[in-house]
Formats: sequence, C-alpha cells, structure tokens
Amino acid sequence: MIPYGRQDITQDDVDAVISALRSDFITQGPAIEGFEKALSGYCGVGHGIAVCNATAALHIAYEALDVGPGDLVWTVPNTFAATANAARFLGAEVDFVDIDLNTRNMSLPALELKFAAAVKTGRLPKLVTPVHFAGLSCDMKPIAELCRSYGAKVVEDASHAVGGAYRGHKVGSCDYSDVTVFSFHPVKIVTTGEGGMAMAADAGIAERMALLRTHGITRNPGWMRGESEGPWYYEMLDLGYNYRITDIQAALGTSQLKRLDHYVARRNAIADVYDAAFSDCGIGLPGRMDGAYSAFHLYTVHWPDGLGGHSRRSAFAAMRALGIGVNVHYIPVHRLPYYADLGFRAGQFPNAEAHYQQAISLPMFPTLTDDELSRVIKVVIALAEGRG
Ligand SMILES: *Cc1c(COP(=O)(O)O)cnc(C)c1O
Repeated sequence: MIPYGRQDITQDDVDAVISALRSDFITQGPAIEGFEKALSGYCGVGHGIAVCNATAALHIAYEALDVGPGDLVWTVPNTFAATANAARFLGAEVDFVDIDLNTRNMSLPALELKFAAAVKTGRLPKLVTPVHFAGLSCDMKPIAELCRSYGAKVVEDASHAVGGAYRGHKVGSCDYSDVTVFSFHPVKIVTTGEGGMAMAADAGIAERMALLRTHGITRNPGWMRGESEGPWYYEMLDLGYNYRITDIQAALGTSQLKRLDHYVARRNAIADVYDAAFSDCGIGLPGRMDGAYSAFHLYTVHWPDGLGGHSRRSAFAAMRALGIGVNVHYIPVHRLPYYADLGFRAGQFPNAEAHYQQAISLPMFPTLTDDELSRVIKVVIALAEGRG
C-alpha cells in the first residue's frame, strides 16, 4: 500500500537523536532552544515555543491571548478537531466560518458576513483561527485586517504549512497574526515524533506561552514577584501544564529542518505532476492562490458523485483495494457528535460539507517515487474514466 503520507528519517536524523540520548540532557536541555531558534530564524519571527504537540501549542496560544470562559473563538469546519477543541479546553465557545470550495480555506466573504451579523447580536469573537488547509496559506492580510477592525485576535493553525510562504514571507512570520502554530506529527511536513511549536513576534505573548508550557513555573528572577531565596528557588505564577517537548525530539526536529525546503520543493513537484495528469479527467483539483507557495502537506481532490460510475465512497474503496492508501480530510468539525451535542446541525456550513462529501487525499510525501506517482495517476484516471 502506498500511504497518503509518510515521514522521512535519514541517518543524520538517527545520529542527531543518538547524540541527544547520550548527552547530559534528555529533556529541557540545549536542543530545545536550538530547535526553537532554527525554526524562528527560518520563519523570520522573534520567538518559537516548542511543545509536545500542536494541540498543546494551540491551547497555550489561546490562553496567552486571554481566551477564557464565555469567550467566542471562530475557526473553520474543515480542520482537525484540535483547532476547535483548544478553545473548549478554556471554557470558550466555538463557532465556525465556512470555507471557499476552491482553496478549501476560510472564505473571506463568509467571514465578512459573519462579523456583520455578530455586530448586530453583540457576540463578537475574541479570537479567529484560520487553518492553512493542505499547506496553502489562507489570504491572511485581508482576514487579519478584518479581524483587527472588529477587535479580534488571530492565530494561524499552520499545522500543514511549515515551509510554505505568503506574500513573500514564510508562514510563521506572524505578519498577520498574533501566534502561528506548527505540528510535527509524522504525517506532517517535518517530524519530531510528536511535537509542535507556537511562533510569536511579541515577547510578552511568547513569555506567557513559555510559562504555561511548564506548570506556570519560572526560575527567571526578572519575572518573579518576590526575592529569590536561593539557587533552588522558583515561583509558580499561573496555573500551567507540562507541555514540554524532549531534547531527543528537538534534536530530531533540528535535523529534519535542514531538509525542509527540499521536502516542500518535492511536494510541489509532485503536485504539479498530479495537476497536469488530472487536468481533464473530471476530478476537482486543489485551488492555488496568487502570492502563496503551498507546503502541500496534502493533495486533496474532489470526486464528483458518479464520476466514472463511482461515488466518492466507491472510488475511495477501489483505490484502497488497488494499493493506493488514500484518506479523507476532513469530516467537518461541527458534524462530530461532540459538537453536534453543542447544537451544530447538518447544512450550517454547506461548502465544508460539500468539500467533505467529495474529498479524497492522494499519496503526497517527499519520498514518493516517480514509479509510485505514475501508479497512483494510472489508477485514478482509470477510475475516473470508468475503466475500473
Ligand atoms: C495535526 C493537526 C493538529 C494537531 O496536531 P498535533 O501535533 O497532532 O497535536 C491541529 N490542527 C491541524 C489542522 C492539524 O492537521
């Protein structure tokens, strides 16, 4: 089976992990800061706070931006549940903004309409979290301008988009957001096994996230309320978590980052081959956007119902049966039973639902060989043309 995504671990990665294992620090050592500096430098942003996964990064980002009980957080339904769940951890309410069916990202007109309606009811969001689906940046400049005009803060869920760019800057620069979050789960662009990082330009927000990462405890005399009582002394200033990443993982992350540009270039080359191969077989291709360089975490096509005699479900099953490990991204979050219990209904976000009904994510990872790529294309075209 050719999987839809797969990590790439080289001998350099293995060596980096072994030297971290043999060092004095297995966690909370210098490799974590090294990883943070490497990625914040790459993104051109002041701060990176590395944590145990992107869900934790979203949680501390939302909390550092003062999201709390009764606040409202808006995101899109076309995402992984964690984007919304992090707001629920803090007792906030979640609502959704529909997507654009071409980019599959947050729709600017839908956001405009939602703000206009929210002003009338007085229920404005404290925070809006656009998601860079499949690695393509949302149109962040107008989104951020709109959010700021209504007093809302912005977090970018860039779990799919490390290595991508928008308007000439890397995703993660935080040009148009308060915090940008990355994931290093093995199916994402670079991996630390489990891991995530929250990028921020503002030092105060970064400090708050760093504090929340380690129980709310500080050993920094500059942050303490009282005088230090000795070298053992620390203060707990806030109720935080243990969301640390290990030095072992950070060493792997730093080693992986060296190949980030190469990975994203290969992902783009694969996407170009898919685009050309599928240009007139009836399937819907991922939208592009001027001014954005996608990291192509995913290559998700739309299978119109009945194409080649197949429903999406039967096309999916046929691909799996033929050794193509396809997947579906995403079941709209508002349709998950937990969110349905909160009052969300089918039909509320028609574009996210229409996307889900047609979505098939094809194999997309940098070590996909040209032979495997040809095999995927052959199978997909045969099915679309009713020959399978
Ligand atoms: C993977 C993912 C997350 C969660 O990442 P973890 O590191 O697994 O916690 C959040 N949002 C999106 C869009 C994701 O794809």
